[in-house]
Amino acid sequence: MSKAFVEQVMETVVARNPGETEFHQAAREVAESVAAVIDKNPQFAKMKVFERLVEPERQIIFRVPWTDDKGEVHVNRGFRVQFSTAIGPYKGGLRFHPSVYLGIIKFLGFEQIFKNALTTTPIGGGKGGSDFDPKGKSDNEVMHFCQAFMSELFRHIGPDTDVPAGDIGVGGREVGFLFGQYKKLTNTYTGVLTGKGLDWGGSLVRTEATGYGLIYFVTRMLEARNKSWKGLDVVVSGSGNVAIYAVQKAQQLGARVVAMSDSNGYIVDSKGINVETVKRIKEVERGRIKEYVQAHASAKYVEGCDGIWTVPCQVALPSATQNEIDETGAKTLVKNGCIAVGEGANMPSTPEAIKVFLDSGVSFGPAKAANAGGVATSALEMCQNSMRLNWTFEEVDARLKTIMNSIYEQCTKAADAYGQKGNLVAGANIAGFLKVARAMMAQGLV
Ligand code: NDP
Repeated sequence: MSKAFVEQVMETVVARNPGETEFHQAAREVAESVAAVIDKNPQFAKMKVFERLVEPERQIIFRVPWTDDKGEVHVNRGFRVQFSTAIGPYKGGLRFHPSVYLGIIKFLGFEQIFKNALTTTPIGGGKGGSDFDPKGKSDNEVMHFCQAFMSELFRHIGPDTDVPAGDIGVGGREVGFLFGQYKKLTNTYTGVLTGKGLDWGGSLVRTEATGYGLIYFVTRMLEARNKSWKGLDVVVSGSGNVAIYAVQKAQQLGARVVAMSDSNGYIVDSKGINVETVKRIKEVERGRIKEYVQAHASAKYVEGCDGIWTVPCQVALPSATQNEIDETGAKTLVKNGCIAVGEGANMPSTPEAIKVFLDSGVSFGPAKAANAGGVATSALEMCQNSMRLNWTFEEVDARLKTIMNSIYEQCTKAADAYGQKGNLVAGANIAGFLKVARAMMAQGLV
């Protein structure tokens, strides 16, 4: 029954969403995990809960025309895929990257449903973005693009409807421009976006939350092996928001981070990466990771990013983008002594890589659990906006830790309950699905 269920669902998903391979990959993984749950709960099959979940509640695709500094007109494509409001308003980031198309947004939005359910906060799932590339654009051009993007998006979102945030290519600067335009168009000052600046509605810890949350989650994975971060070598791919704060927290806990990357190449520093230098290059100067070696003689730069997984480490934290570790990368990590992998990025490991990790006894923290700290803290930002109050750094950080602990517990318990002890992929999918499925059953066929 289970196998037949997966193939039947996937046949429809592939036929309805042709060419959207990342979405197929994400849907298949969840279908394979929850097939046993559906077997045990025939009411979910009868009400076609999973079949409804793979079909977004709403998909919006729109034109984004804008002018660059020379007055030349450009046309990009904007997306917002509103997947599920079973447990709260749509919530999920916006990605600005040239690789963005409907399949990427759908995979991210679908993952978001289950991730958000795990956070213990009341938020549904959605995702959006554009094929716009902020790299190499002036602040003025980025502002014009964000204003044009929001000029259409504003009519589809709202603090109780859909609350976007950042993702690849959308950080504090972009959220500011998007928020400003929303405010102007609607004449309202509300918590319609998260990741806002601290002086105008943002939450402390939101900037650090995904990276810190990842480390809190992996801490639990290491503890289950009677290990701590002390003395461990760590490799972190990417050098953006998630990567930087994962590095910072791992180092605070005693790890040595030996490599980081961007989309051009990676740096190795056997003395341990100096995260302040990376922050300066990436957050202030918006430069390239190769500039790091100018400041640190102990470091070397290697062109091309795949090789980063050949750098020996005990913990790997892929924090750049989807499908960045394939089977070969996974085998190399295992051969070099890797004992734990925590996914900072969304779906950074291919299904073949995940199989290698699970078969080799590597502790594996899947994205929808391990990187849920970002969206969880966004939900805490929404909460503070509604109360018109701000919590201290310590208070938000303590709540983030509690949430990451709860996610870990939910995943391990669900894995145990379905005979998959230690498999946090199955555990995360099952625990997230059960919460959403129960809400859908309660709310009828909508
Ligand atoms: P940023 O834009 O801040 O940083 C992305 C980093 O990944 C950059 O170093 C970038 O390099 C690199 N990168 C992006 N695309 C590619 C690619 N195709 N190949 C190689 N490297 C690439 O994004 P975030 O740190 O916010 O996001 C990173 C990942 O984490 C994404 O998968 C995102 O969905 C996920 N995530 C983010 C959350 C958040 O709160 N920000 C929350 C949960 C998940 P370059 O500068 O060269 O482009």
